[in-house]
Amino acid sequence: MKTFLFSLFIVCSTLVIANPTDSTQVVKDSLRTAVDTVQTTTVFNVDSSTHQWLSTLYGEARQKSDSYFEGGYVLQVVNLFYGLLVALVFLKLGLGKQMKRLAGKVKNTNLQNLVYIILYFLLSWLLSFPLSVYTDYIREHNYGLSNLTFVGWFTENLQGLGVGIVLGAPMVTLLYFALRKTGKRWWIWGATGSIIFMMFISFIAPVFISPIFNKYEPLEEGPLKQEILSMARANDIPAENVYKFDASKQSKRVSANVSGFASTTRISLNDNLLNRCTPAEIKAVMGHEMGHYVLNHVYKGVIEFGVLIFIVFALLNWLLNKLISTRGAEWGIESISDVAGLPLLAFLISMIFFFATPVTNTMIRTQEMEADQFGLNAAREPDAEAHVDMMLSEYRKVDPGKWEEIFFFDHPSGRVRIETAMKWKAEHLNDCK
Ligand SMILES: [Zn+2]
Repeated sequence: MKTFLFSLFIVCSTLVIANPTDSTQVVKDSLRTAVDTVQTTTVFNVDSSTHQWLSTLYGEARQKSDSYFEGGYVLQVVNLFYGLLVALVFLKLGLGKQMKRLAGKVKNTNLQNLVYIILYFLLSWLLSFPLSVYTDYIREHNYGLSNLTFVGWFTENLQGLGVGIVLGAPMVTLLYFALRKTGKRWWIWGATGSIIFMMFISFIAPVFISPIFNKYEPLEEGPLKQEILSMARANDIPAENVYKFDASKQSKRVSANVSGFASTTRISLNDNLLNRCTPAEIKAVMGHEMGHYVLNHVYKGVIEFGVLIFIVFALLNWLLNKLISTRGAEWGIESISDVAGLPLLAFLISMIFFFATPVTNTMIRTQEMEADQFGLNAAREPDAEAHVDMMLSEYRKVDPGKWEEIFFFDHPSGRVRIETAMKWKAEHLNDCK
């Protein structure tokens, strides 16, 4: 379910960077040296310039970045198996049957389902809590990437659960309504409903969901705002849609994103970005974010994920029918429209999305590459872009193998992004700084 909701909640989140710790001061200094070296090289060579940038992350800092990112690969597999265990607790150990009995005290079928679904959300959250603590709190602190105290983290986790229940429980109740009323074609209605739900969530997210976790406000007046607004006007972007938010309370990462849908679409940048980066670097980041906006990535994403959601639901229908006809009695699931099958449905969705990871990553990564190219043309700051890419690489493996990038990267790797920036620079040597 977590993976499913995650997929639905996908709002482009880009350029996330960790603050350098004291131990990375050397890297910071060498980055500056690299900026100077690359900028003053008379004969410009794309490969050697890219290599110069990449070599600014080395030794312990590079190992730490690789290890954090590669650990993420293992965690994806662990998450899948953990999800299987959680599903088995509901199906094999009888927790699901007890929940069904409790929900059965309500007369109306839809309300019965709603009670079961809310119980499922609460109990699966509880069962997944130990892994969440490790993944999202302990591990983040071990790598120096989080600013949250345990209480702060736990509060946000509970808020996330609340949002999940308020939005997710009625949606899943509707899904089971479709399962009962539309027979064999339920999956077509289910997929259509999920796509509408995805657009609805994207639409309300900047106005109702994001402000639960962070304070959003228009960027204050000043030369930087003027430069950003000028870039926005030059690219026909509504100028009032530039916001900043206080991400420093959660982490040391710098980020910016495009969120929302239709009239709520907006570009936001966080306070870490404003505090850590030079105006040129902020412009490079904003150029990238504006690229998402101008290239209509939000709408294209709905179409691409829409097609994927239809495929996922067709597969889900096939798997559910097969498993329930053979194991349904043992697991206490009467039919495909019985809400007792929810733990199985949730696990199967996670599993399908797990195997679809290279596809979803490639869909997102392709848009990120387009945004990079747009950003280079809009901001005309290839070295600032490369510097930001290196800062990102403090926690994202900078130079992965080709297939590793296709499977695990939802953004182009640092190497690819810098190479792109250096290629742009090579063609603009006489007209950029
Ligand atoms: Zn992006």
